[in-house]
Amino acid sequence: MSDIIQLLPDHVANQIAAGEVVQRPASVVKELLENSIDAGASCIKLILKDAGKTLIQVIDDGKGMSVTDARLSFERHATSKIRAAEDLFQLHTKGFRGEALASIAAIAHVEMKTKQEDQELGTHLKIEGSKVTYQEMASTPTGTSISVKNLFYNIPARRNFLKSDTVETRHIIDEFQRISLAHPEITFSLHHNSNEVYRLSESNLRKRVVSIFGSKMNEKLVPIEEETEMISISGFVAKPEYAKKKRGEQFFFVNDRFVKSPYLHHAVVAAFDGLLEQGSHPSYFLYLKVPTKSIDINIHPTKTEVKFDDEKALYAILRATVKHSLGQYSIAPVLDFNR
Ligand code: ADP
Ligand code: MG
Repeated sequence: MSDIIQLLPDHVANQIAAGEVVQRPASVVKELLENSIDAGASCIKLILKDAGKTLIQVIDDGKGMSVTDARLSFERHATSKIRAAEDLFQLHTKGFRGEALASIAAIAHVEMKTKQEDQELGTHLKIEGSKVTYQEMASTPTGTSISVKNLFYNIPARRNFLKSDTVETRHIIDEFQRISLAHPEITFSLHHNSNEVYRLSESNLRKRVVSIFGSKMNEKLVPIEEETEMISISGFVAKPEYAKKKRGEQFFFVNDRFVKSPYLHHAVVAAFDGLLEQGSHPSYFLYLKVPTKSIDINIHPTKTEVKFDDEKALYAILRATVKHSLGQYSIAPVLDFNR
């Protein structure tokens, strides 16, 4: 009889975890942008080369990290965002799993510069395949800059599996749009191969939607507003006559986080009942705020799925709210028998 089980070394465990967190360059973009938001940044720059395959850099003016934290941030399960299991029921940050930087550093060449406001000098750190190869004090602005180079350099199968630059850029732009729509109060820019793709100055929701999807969008938007004990709903739906043949711009944000929810999507489509041509899809930008303890977002590492305590009630409220707003814009038949 012999023992054959061993604990995997950290860098191997990180590489395995990375498989879940980092599917493609867009996953890195999402994780880095979310970290910048959690760090309280008011201005975030995203710089890409070759659809992120060669370089993904995020520069923020957030709170930065101390020397020790800068190094610790690349350890797995290292996070400043939760301390105990109970905290999972009152999350106010995008991150909490402490996995992203560890995963990214396991499968790319990473360079970080970071400085806190009260520090004279910041930290400059390089890390490859989970190993720190360089760490020095450096003069750098307050905030954090992280460069992720040569993604999947040590996993040829993944690297070869990446799609064309056009497709990977599309995925990145999707993430960028979702995150910048969730945070109109933050300035964002996106540069790709030295071209400026987006420059979004701090604004409100309507202006952010318009600056991303074009000025024609402005006249199409019907405001949505509802507040109950369970949920507050705000945002816009596009008037039914603008519904698209191809899938429209469809965005749900729950507590400032983009989520996919076929169930809530169905509620919105149901509110358009009878107003849409066969085969056309409504556009919507809907922001739901619910008590943090009434949802679970820890279903999947990418956190785009969410579980609500009382899904049926949310469905009903959402459908009624959208229907009512469409009615107010006198573009829906008003069938209110109670008045
Ligand atoms: P998580 O976001 O789940 O905590 P990450 O691996 O993404 O895990 O980040 C680990 C930690 O590194 C964070 O908890 C945070 O303290 C720190 N960190 C990461 N990015 C930044 C940033 N841009 N600015 C300041 N701190 C950061
Ligand atoms: Mg994170």
